[in-house]
Amino acid sequence: MTINLTTTAQVESALDELSSVLPGQVVDPRHPDWTALSRAWILSVDQRPRAVVTVTDEEDVVAVVGWAARHDMTVSVQPVGHGATHALDGTVLLRTRGLREITVDAENRIARVGAGVKWGELLAAVSDLGLTGLAGSSPDPSVVGFTLGGGLSWFSRAFGLAAHSVVAVELVDGDGELRRVTAASDPDLFWAIRGGGGDFGIVTALEFRLHPAPHVYGGRLLWPIEMARPVMTAFAEVTASAPDELTAWAHLLRFPPLPEIPEPLRGGSFVSVDLTFLGSAEEAERLLAPLRSLPALRFDTLGTVPLAELGGIAAEPVDPMPTMELSGLLRDFDEVTIDRLLAAAGGPDSPLVVVQVRHLGGALTRATDADGAAGALSEPYQLFCLGVPVSPEVAYAIGQAFAEVRTALGEHLTGRRAFNFLSDDHDPTSAFSPTALERLVAVKAEVDPHGTIRSNRPVNRS
Ligand SMILES: Cc1cc2nc3c(=O)[nH]c(=O)nc-3n(C[C@H](O)[C@H](O)[C@H](O)COP(=O)(O)OP(=O)(O)OC[C@H]3O[C@@H](n4cnc5c(N)ncnc54)[C@H](O)[C@@H]3O)c2cc1C
Repeated sequence: MTINLTTTAQVESALDELSSVLPGQVVDPRHPDWTALSRAWILSVDQRPRAVVTVTDEEDVVAVVGWAARHDMTVSVQPVGHGATHALDGTVLLRTRGLREITVDAENRIARVGAGVKWGELLAAVSDLGLTGLAGSSPDPSVVGFTLGGGLSWFSRAFGLAAHSVVAVELVDGDGELRRVTAASDPDLFWAIRGGGGDFGIVTALEFRLHPAPHVYGGRLLWPIEMARPVMTAFAEVTASAPDELTAWAHLLRFPPLPEIPEPLRGGSFVSVDLTFLGSAEEAERLLAPLRSLPALRFDTLGTVPLAELGGIAAEPVDPMPTMELSGLLRDFDEVTIDRLLAAAGGPDSPLVVVQVRHLGGALTRATDADGAAGALSEPYQLFCLGVPVSPEVAYAIGQAFAEVRTALGEHLTGRRAFNFLSDDHDPTSAFSPTALERLVAVKAEVDPHGTIRSNRPVNRS
């Protein structure tokens, strides 16, 4: 039987009932540390869940979702908070960091991870095996959150999105039932959760293929920002003919003058190319010749990269911070695109801390609809811009800079975005083709007709 809760007292009473089942694990706005407990990693999104529940195993998840279904409440999940969102306002928010299982079957190249495991933890576990999961630029995102949204990895040009490597998912559905979902058991649901986000159940564990990575060469090449045009041009030349084993991302980087930023980066503006190569140093260096021929190199960290240190290449922050983000998939990255991007975002006064162009292609283009909702990424490059809104004035300037970038690039942006790079103010439907979108909405209606589960980017929130 469903109980409709209409008053605050009724909600508090229902939460007290949940607390009696999970003592010490449920907090609500009456808790003195509520602000810290309910916030996301991205501090600029003021999230307002009804309660936060720390779960430690799958039975806890079953208990919360069953309780929510009975009380006509909605459940969200946020292990880390990189995908901060207002979509979870009014929901009961699960923190799943306690689900820490990591099991690696090296012989069959399969890993199984719990919903709380971060990429850095999984990479440390496989680092000595010559195998890798499809981790992205940072060790901090949870494997599950990252993978449900597609998961654009350093190694996606060789092996596809992280979602493409999933072989099984264990989740608690909208009725509070724990299910093992595979291509054979539930083809539509299995398709949706591989790239459609977390709207289809609370995942407790994920199983996915590992890939060979016996030697990873990589690191960062960095020049002063005055070198932006020749570096971007050489980056375009290198990536135009790169084999799938080479992944390169170009950046404009503006570091604040903070003591925690090391010299020579502190307070400076730079252009960099970060890269990984699944192969030898000699072969990588041959491919990088156009970049190596440029003068004024200030910083060179290229070398063998132990997998456990993959996150060190881009060295992205892991502590919570306010951010504003813009992303989009690019049709091309030729001289005209470079000119327009630099005119809009390359100036000395730009408030954009990061302007990143990721080379895509390779296996990303070869995926098919059968590989999950994320499908193929046919665009050859992705643009991502980030600002840090430390004051309303800076937030305004970042918004203006985003508008300038969008206008300058115009038709060079296809209008599609990769799901994981959506921010709270983006329309999630922009990540999918009309056909995929229709199928996602149908799967949601089928598996969670009462809307008990809500992801950070629901595609049918209208
Ligand atoms: C510094 C940084 C670097 C990044 N680099 C990359 C990158 O290289 N490639 C890339 O693809 N993305 C990247 N991202 C984006 C990141 O992958 C997404 O924001 C992803 O959603 C983060 O997942 P999370 O669990 O860490 O975050 P959270 O905000 O905790 O979770 C995000 C969403 O995932 C879903 N979810 C999480 N766990 C579960 C679960 N157990 N069951 C059901 N749903 C769940 C929920 O909808 C949740 O709202 C990066 C983000 C940051 C901050």
